[in-house]
Amino acid sequence: MASIFTKIVNGEIPSWKVAEDENYYAFLDINPLAEGHTLVIPKKETDYIFDIEDKEYEGLWAFARKVAIGIKAVVPCERIGIAVIGLEVAHAHIHLVPLKTIYDIDFRKPKLKLKPEEFSGIAARISSAIK
Ligand code: 5GP
Repeated sequence: MASIFTKIVNGEIPSWKVAEDENYYAFLDINPLAEGHTLVIPKKETDYIFDIEDKEYEGLWAFARKVAIGIKAVVPCERIGIAVIGLEVAHAHIHLVPLKTIYDIDFRKPKLKLKPEEFSGIAARISSAIK
């Protein structure tokens, strides 16, 4: 069965997209740790990130870097933190989390509750900053 993220890529489930190319897709995490928390995924579904073949794996990180630079340009933060967890969704993904303190990337903390218009505003700002 297709993963929830494959359904997002295929447009069967909505997402706040920030970037896309032929092979990769980036969108806001629906339960953000911080404003601008973004997930970067390969369109091709692989569960475990370290099972991805070299070329696609390297491309994923290169794409994530472009997205992170865009996030950093528009979201006030010290830097963009990275996490790879994958215990909830079995489709490889990189979390990009704007950090002011280390607490911003503590996955045990309560998630932000944002309104749809806040999500769409953030996504649009990040998207416009990605080169
Ligand atoms: P992980 O698999 O890395 O433990 O966590 C999966 C992440 O995906 C979580 O941060 C969760 O909020 C996010 N997530 C799960 N389902 C959806 C969804 O349908 N849409 C979006 N945008 N994010 C999701």
